[in-house]
Amino acid sequence: MKPSRFEYVLPRSIEEAVAARVEHADTVVLSGGQSLVPTLNFRLSNPEAVIDLRLVPGLDDVRVEGEWIHVGGRTRQRDLELDDAVHAANPLIRETLHHVAHPVIRNRGTVGGSIAHADPSAELPCLLLCLDGEVVAHGPSGARTIDAQDLFEFILSTTLEPDEILTEVRFPVLPERTGWCFTEFARRHGDFALAGVAATLTLADDGTIAWGQLAACGVTTTPVRLVAVEDALLDDAADPSRFREIAALAADVVTVPDDESCSSAYRRDLLVGLVERALRTSWQRATERAT
Ligand code: FAD
Repeated sequence: MKPSRFEYVLPRSIEEAVAARVEHADTVVLSGGQSLVPTLNFRLSNPEAVIDLRLVPGLDDVRVEGEWIHVGGRTRQRDLELDDAVHAANPLIRETLHHVAHPVIRNRGTVGGSIAHADPSAELPCLLLCLDGEVVAHGPSGARTIDAQDLFEFILSTTLEPDEILTEVRFPVLPERTGWCFTEFARRHGDFALAGVAATLTLADDGTIAWGQLAACGVTTTPVRLVAVEDALLDDAADPSRFREIAALAADVVTVPDDESCSSAYRRDLLVGLVERALRTSWQRATERAT
């Protein structure tokens, strides 16, 4: 199929891009096109204008600065994956990106595009939520920062305004004494996962668990923090012998009904298994880093 007629806009600054969003009643942003182009071709989206970000400078800059990793919104997923400075600052990012589609798609797909698209099964929104990351959005009245926990609203829906453009994604540097894991189950490698889990686990000086941060994708209408699991990890008695019992607390977040891929009950069991695996791997890596 071919898309409906639209105006193609090629801004050379973020201000021009925002102005184009304001000028047209219904716009979409072309970042990597990996999700947008199929929706245009199938006429699931029929915008008045398509705003292509490729000539806007600075949107593919990546830098590690202090406690944060700053990633330009149009950074290719593959470039972030291969960035050794980013990997040294937070190895969970590369591990997560290995699960996003295939290298050919990551060569075109962008970090900001995936997060703005907000597919509930996508790995990068889940990673951002797990890490308490944030995004920067530019609109007609300037820039604002949005915490990950305030960003994801519903399936393919965020709190970005229709006249805003996501310009930067910020992931924290992984703290010391912290282990990490991204694990998921998909029918074939590269497919969207039936469920996925991002986790970090931080140890106290005496080797006990200080806290954990976990998020899941593919199990409800947005990526979701596994709060019950995190709370249980704060208990003084939390240790690896209780990981199975603690992981079982994740089951309640699943709201995806039975579908052609699997039943809801299967997805709950899957999530619990993935959480247990993520906890064990994170704990092992935290222990190795702490010694
Ligand atoms: P685009 O397709 O250009 O844009 C996507 C949407 O986000 C559009 O609505 C656009 O308007 C909006 N948008 C883009 N950039 C901005 C911005 N800066 N500000 C505001 N709005 C913006 N993803 C996964 O996470 N996991 C997978 O396993 C996976 N498998 C895939 C398999 C296939 C075969 C394909 C084709 C895609 C797959 N994807 C997967 C999606 C892929 O990762 C895309 O890169 C991702 O959806 C974002 O696409 P993009 O960067 O190309 O953004």
